[in-house]
Amino acid sequence: MTSRTLTTTVRGQPTSDGAGVKLTRVIGQHALRNVDPFLLLDEFRSDVPDEYLAGFPPHPHRGFETVTYMLAGAMKHKDSVGNTGHLGPGSVQWMTAGRGIVHEEMPEQEDGLLWGFQLWVNLPAAKKMTAPRYQDIPADQIPQVSVPDGTVRVVAGAFGETTGPVGGVDVAPLYLDVQLDPGGSLDVDVPDGHRGFVYVFEGSGQVAHQDLGRGELGVLSDQGTLQLAAGAEGLRILVVAGKPLNEPIVQYGPFVMNTQREIQEAIRDYQAGRLGR
Ligand code: MN
Repeated sequence: MTSRTLTTTVRGQPTSDGAGVKLTRVIGQHALRNVDPFLLLDEFRSDVPDEYLAGFPPHPHRGFETVTYMLAGAMKHKDSVGNTGHLGPGSVQWMTAGRGIVHEEMPEQEDGLLWGFQLWVNLPAAKKMTAPRYQDIPADQIPQVSVPDGTVRVVAGAFGETTGPVGGVDVAPLYLDVQLDPGGSLDVDVPDGHRGFVYVFEGSGQVAHQDLGRGELGVLSDQGTLQLAAGAEGLRILVVAGKPLNEPIVQYGPFVMNTQREIQEAIRDYQAGRLGR
């Protein structure tokens, strides 16, 4: 049996985005530009209101998908054509920006812990100008599978017989939130050829034969089963993978296209108010 290994490990870098939200950039930083088809992974986690209250006021996206997964606290989402959504603890929003949206993402709380992740998933060239689409999935619609040593929340893709609620995504994503008790272990099937990563957000353990602790990300090799074993404090880890696109990536802030010309077009469309209409 082949098992996955880690080809690289990195720690996130503290930064801020939006109107000054403090966060940790794990993918999309100097040490790890992307993990095709994933362009960015941010973890936001703070119980200091001044570090998150300013939120992410209106901004555009074109050419990819943004995925917000909440662990604690709540965000409110609103776009320029009137779509709104509430993201509570344990919920996920899978937003396909496609040809373009302008939206805001604001905390829906004045104090307490706000904790979650935003992942950017690339779209293939043929789908970059697709119509925008939202999949807002409340916590109780994300299946939670009991395993002998813990639980697995299946956001997207399959874990055993259980399939997550997110559908119709080109890169056929796997997105699992795995919790293991102290000393527990689990083998996770990741589709062959899918490229992906793991990110430890609580505890520590042996991940794909390597020690990994809180705040560390490992990039997975392309074939085989992923083996997880929790340390003395248990382990909570994101397991995310998808079909690599192997296409050129030209990024300018919130626009991710295949050519410089398409980026210029995106900027022109945004400036002329043609995005998110
Ligand atoms: Mn956004």
